[in-house]
Amino acid sequence: MARAPATAPRGHYRHGFPLREVLAQLTHAARAWPAPALERVAAQCGDPFQVLVGTVLSLRTRDETTRPALERLLALAPTARTLAARDEDSIAAAIRPVAFFRVKARNLRALGQALCAEHGGRVPASLEALLALPGVGRKTANLTLGLAFGEPAVCVDVHVHRILNRLGALDSPDPATTEALLRRHLPRRLWLGINPVLVAFGQTLCAPRSPHCSRCPVADRCRREGVDRSR
Ligand code: SF4
Repeated sequence: MARAPATAPRGHYRHGFPLREVLAQLTHAARAWPAPALERVAAQCGDPFQVLVGTVLSLRTRDETTRPALERLLALAPTARTLAARDEDSIAAAIRPVAFFRVKARNLRALGQALCAEHGGRVPASLEALLALPGVGRKTANLTLGLAFGEPAVCVDVHVHRILNRLGALDSPDPATTEALLRRHLPRRLWLGINPVLVAFGQTLCAPRSPHCSRCPVADRCRREGVDRSR
């Protein structure tokens, strides 16, 4: 009888890599770097609605565009109820030029409506409930849980995924696998800090193209996987 082919592992965590020490070094260095925009929003207001809509706006969008767009959106619609009552065109005009602003305007209106219909206008504090909302994927849900509710969540965005693979801490084909590997191998107390530190690192030094390896505080630990050009 023919055997079923073994399923190839989709990624793996490198146990020999000193990830905890590297994260501690980067956390220390991050005090000198600008905090990511959503981190600042959460620190200033701690309001789950603002964190959630800010996270939706930030997808594929630079911080310097996200922050003013969020301020314009909150001036137009400061709560889930007011957001649900706005039309798509006025939401789109407020958030432009964030990436995919028309799609995001549609999703944001639907998000406001769902929050009102299913959660009394409040943002739910569970991963499952957040993932069931329109336009909310794992990154948005995890970031909202972590920043707005202080829940242990691992938020893996493009920065986190890229940097951990470059460092050689893990070998992962996609952010969902990276998230699963971190959940399995890192203690919960470290989960929340990973995103803000690595996002700030990615925006400051470990840039997508041509990272600043000559100024990197963890260059001596980095395998520079996939890096063919650096500064
Ligand atoms: Fe990124 Fe270069 Fe530092 Fe490696 S050495 S973490 S590629 S900046």
